[in-house]
Amino acid sequence: MKTGVLVGIDLGGTNVRVGAVNLQGDVLAWAEAPIEASRGPQVGLARIGALIEQVLGTVGMVMPLAIGMGATGPIDRQRGSIQNPYTLPTWEDVPVVQLLQERFGVPVALENDADAAALGEAWVGAGRDHERVLMVTVGTGIGTAFVYRGEIYRGIEGAHPEAGHIVVDPRGPLCYCGAHGCWESLASGPAIARRAQSLARDTSTLMVELAQGNLEAIDARVVVAAAQAGDVLAQQIIEETAFYLGLGMVNLMIAYLPDVVILGGGVMRAYPVFAPYIHQVIQQHSVVAPLQSVRLVMARLGGQAGVVGAAYAASKLIVEG
Ligand SMILES: [Zn+2]
Repeated sequence: MKTGVLVGIDLGGTNVRVGAVNLQGDVLAWAEAPIEASRGPQVGLARIGALIEQVLGTVGMVMPLAIGMGATGPIDRQRGSIQNPYTLPTWEDVPVVQLLQERFGVPVALENDADAAALGEAWVGAGRDHERVLMVTVGTGIGTAFVYRGEIYRGIEGAHPEAGHIVVDPRGPLCYCGAHGCWESLASGPAIARRAQSLARDTSTLMVELAQGNLEAIDARVVVAAAQAGDVLAQQIIEETAFYLGLGMVNLMIAYLPDVVILGGGVMRAYPVFAPYIHQVIQQHSVVAPLQSVRLVMARLGGQAGVVGAAYAASKLIVEG
């Protein structure tokens, strides 16, 4: 059996996290730092290189077996570059994979960060021991990823499927993508906040109190807290959001029939509040397919999922190579 460690990198727009991960998926060492994208990729890559050396030093290694990076997408896997002008504006067309390969002399894998997180959860997190793992992340948007027998499902040209833009209400609000009633425009954190802010204007509700009278400060967290305290309007918003959350999930569950749906992201931390309504929607659509057998589980790796999944992607390179 091979010994040694993998390096997993989770590169976001603000911070980069690096872990030394063994072949069983345990994180043995961890380091993170701001990425400061505005200072350019040279500064960023030098910092990533230093963090890699730091975690390897912690576990007493000089070289990793392979390196994997999950980056805030979109990414170009063919060219090994990150193409995200919004979160990593200076990094476009920089051959990140090639540069890391040259510096460390080992194979380097590059994944979209949502795919990396799903791979991590499927490997040693909430999807462990399951063949068909669907991950749904609800936060600022809604992201999904499907892992089948340890492999991430890729779309045409290697593209990452964007199920957050499945239409769940054609008469719904306009999404930035140009369509009306996309799943994420009705059920993401900002969607919950928008609905709450417009309704709180004309009604007396605990939400305004919790936001210290500032309507703009009403966010998904405030809505959840008010609903839990018995506020009727907040409970209505939760119910409506849960309906759309459930509808989007049912669409994907019917299409994929996964063993588990892993729920991640900030909004899903309040899953118990949404759960009864989500289950109702799922039940209503269970006639044609065994949806009741699909387990809905919370993500388990938290902030480490991306690093662990990137390490998993790296491990594939040593098996293949
Ligand atoms: Zn959309």
